[in-house]
Amino acid sequence: MPENRPPDSAPIPFYDTVGIGAGPAGLSLAALFGVLAPREIALFDAQAGPGWHSGMLHPGVRMQTGWVKDLVSLLDPTHPLSLLNYLVTTGKVYALVGANFDSIPRLEYTQYLAWAAAQIPRLTYSTRIDKISVDDAIVTYAEGRPIARSEHLVLGQGTVAHLPEFFGDLAASDRVIVADVLADRIGELPADLDAPIVVIGGGQTSAECAGALLGRGYRNIRWIGRRSWFAPLEDSPAANDLYRPSYQEYFVQLPAEDRKRLVADQLLTSDGITPGTLRDLYQVNYEGRLREGRFPMTIMPGREVTGATMAGDEIELVCQTSGGEERLRAAYVVVAAGRRNAPMPFDEEMDELIDRDDNGDVIIEADYSLRWKYSDRNKIFVLNRGRFSHGLVDSNVSILPIRSAIIINSLAERKVFNIRDEYLSTQWA
Ligand SMILES: Cc1cc2nc3c(=O)[nH]c(=O)nc-3n(C[C@H](O)[C@H](O)[C@H](O)COP(=O)(O)OP(=O)(O)OC[C@H]3O[C@@H](n4cnc5c(N)ncnc54)[C@H](O)[C@@H]3O)c2cc1C
Repeated sequence: MPENRPPDSAPIPFYDTVGIGAGPAGLSLAALFGVLAPREIALFDAQAGPGWHSGMLHPGVRMQTGWVKDLVSLLDPTHPLSLLNYLVTTGKVYALVGANFDSIPRLEYTQYLAWAAAQIPRLTYSTRIDKISVDDAIVTYAEGRPIARSEHLVLGQGTVAHLPEFFGDLAASDRVIVADVLADRIGELPADLDAPIVVIGGGQTSAECAGALLGRGYRNIRWIGRRSWFAPLEDSPAANDLYRPSYQEYFVQLPAEDRKRLVADQLLTSDGITPGTLRDLYQVNYEGRLREGRFPMTIMPGREVTGATMAGDEIELVCQTSGGEERLRAAYVVVAAGRRNAPMPFDEEMDELIDRDDNGDVIIEADYSLRWKYSDRNKIFVLNRGRFSHGLVDSNVSILPIRSAIIINSLAERKVFNIRDEYLSTQWA
């Protein structure tokens, strides 16, 4: 039994709030929750211990966001769980600053999260929440057993990798590797560096997978993307305007159709590839050509993969291109085809009490709470699920502490935190 889990006969503990998921979103909320003392939040996470996309920690991977965008600083820079405090108290600060990173290593951010998690009380790992029900409180279950009751609930479950349906039974094959686990499985790939390997995906994750394979010396890589080019992340000051609390305040009150259109229009501010990553890939590829007389990686945008079958020992992919159908063979396929929200584990009865719009999507209010039957009595907040309600900023770490502050203000029914975002030169329509 995981540590801290009450034995079967123990009374079920009651908390003000239960949070499912201790990723950056849940940790930020728990870090700031202290202002509501004596009210308490308890966090549960399925992982065995602290970790953040650990199967994608390839050598050299960097944050796509600046280091000041930590769990707390943009709201409360004096908070003890700031990244700066982590750097100073662990003795790293001079070495890190001196190393002149444009953007800090993801490994650093992961270690920062682990350091912060160790200081957050009532955080239990190895506990996958498999059911949530409601009676006069919200009841959270693991392994079919109630483990906590609470007045309020926060779903901070993040996202899971999407494996396209055309893989069918091949999904179970060890020849198909989901990007999420490539760092763990890269050692299983063939020793033959000429083995054909295809990477599918047009975002940062696919670029990092391609880079990891190049780094291992593979020289028969094909990188396939759906867009007409492997588009860079848009990170200009104009794009950064969209990642401010003031923009979010404007965004949430727009009609749903407008919000949907804006998300599509602004996609590359979130889903593009860091220019530095692209540059590294092109440079390594160029050098490979100088050394070996051929590019180790063929860059293949403008292709939509629609089918995959086993052909002898290899996987055959069917791609649609503007020039017609194309078939590609690979010994291994690495899939970085986007992510989906993790499913919310409400039991059937509770699920029926959750309001949904005409598309069947949950309705997220401005304070990140779900609209549901008992929202006056028991609030349910969702983190990182509001791309279409709060904008693209909701799916990354840019303004985590601001989201935490809005939720805490809502729970307190007063302005515990003052969110300041002034000096705005842009006037939204
Ligand atoms: C490789 C990669 C790199 C990224 N880099 C950046 C970046 O540099 N900057 C940026 O802004 N964004 C980045 N992102 C986006 C990133 O996902 C989010 O910014 C961030 O992880 C969101 O945090 P989260 O807490 O919402 O979700 P997650 O980090 O996914 O955490 C969710 C947690 O919930 C737990 N969980 C889920 N379901 C259950 C359950 N039923 N029971 C118990 N626990 C559960 C999971 O174990 C997990 O620990 C990156 C994403 C990926 C995949």
